[in-house]
Amino acid sequence: MAPIILVLNSGSSSIKFSLYDGPTEQVTGQISGLGAEPHLNLEAPLSGRQIDRALDTSDGSSHGAALAALLPILNEELGGRPVAAVGHRVVHGGTKHDLPIRITDVVMQELRVLEPLAPLHQPHNLAGIEAAQEAFPEADQVACFDTAFHRKHPWVNDTFALPRSFYDEGVRRYGFHGLSYEYICEYLKQNAQDAYKGKVIVAHLGNGASMCAIRAGQSIGSTMGFTALDGLPMGTRCGQLDPGVILYLMTTNGMSPDEISDLLYKKSGLKGLSGISQDMRALSESDDPRAAEAIEYYVFRVRRELGAMAAVLSGVDTLVFTGGIGENSALIRERVCTDQEWLGIQVDPALNNAGDGAISTQSSKVAVLVIPTNEEEMIRRHTEALLTASPVPA
Ligand code: ADP
Repeated sequence: MAPIILVLNSGSSSIKFSLYDGPTEQVTGQISGLGAEPHLNLEAPLSGRQIDRALDTSDGSSHGAALAALLPILNEELGGRPVAAVGHRVVHGGTKHDLPIRITDVVMQELRVLEPLAPLHQPHNLAGIEAAQEAFPEADQVACFDTAFHRKHPWVNDTFALPRSFYDEGVRRYGFHGLSYEYICEYLKQNAQDAYKGKVIVAHLGNGASMCAIRAGQSIGSTMGFTALDGLPMGTRCGQLDPGVILYLMTTNGMSPDEISDLLYKKSGLKGLSGISQDMRALSESDDPRAAEAIEYYVFRVRRELGAMAAVLSGVDTLVFTGGIGENSALIRERVCTDQEWLGIQVDPALNNAGDGAISTQSSKVAVLVIPTNEEEMIRRHTEALLTASPVPA
């Protein structure tokens, strides 16, 4: 019988969850409002159950309290069948972890050391693991890393031009969104073999955003670096920034590391530029000129990185849009792809508005595709593979 696998994506104020019976998604949902008033949204397509209500927790509003409150609801759906493993999205695996791994105390210590490199995600990912260890003590806990996909990228994309000792101590370009890129590669492998083998650029445009140059399923270059701040502007993160700006903020403005971190991670990007919202849909619907300018900057940076990624690959055969913005915003796709015939990119307006699968014209040299990503499914596959490969914990 296929194992029951729970996939958790734990953030600062939310836990997204998907419960799988084999490859079938049995329950999906999210607990939001952690740290304040937890709220549960749940859908169980097989049983028809839907929940959208405050989550009653007996013990506060932590990740642990929320998972404990979710447990009996999941158990009802499972009818007594045990969860074999919990697969966790962990944003940073450092230099060591280039594959999913069963979580032990030693692994937890290694991952904790990486918290300063991904302050927006890693502490919450680990809080989710601890909560799941408590709620599902019999289940294997598996970590799947966003950095793993990039670990074999070329050295020139791994290093900064700093003295070598910094590289040796781990100051490297890690790259993120690896689970999403991996899912897209697997999708192409199954559905478009030629595209998979060729030169692919994936634009993962969500709240967080990055782009990746991929050849035959292998990461060659990516826009994110040491932390998830670099590259494209994001909802609240700045993207590429001259390091001199940080020196200026420290010396001239007297800002502390915490203040600078808060500025770069939480107050910049679309939110900082527009002064209105971090949400692309809200900005697209706004007639405030600041919203238009924020979008203009966003599109400019995506176009710039598209050229850079194409140069890294010496051309491009397939361009994939994914993530909330990449999948849903015909406007952003259109603006990124306008006047890109020099690259061989030509988008069909009607197909772009439909936004499902191929959106390029018949004569476009580059196939432009919209593919919904599914990081949860990737984590499920990894977790199941690990269970199958070594059913007993080492
Ligand atoms: P996360 O990185 O948190 O998983 P998502 O991948 O869900 O985020 O992407 C969220 C972004 O997608 C938000 O900026 C949201 O406004 C944007 N988005 C979703 N639907 C649309 C749409 N129809 N038009 C424009 N932007 C959209």
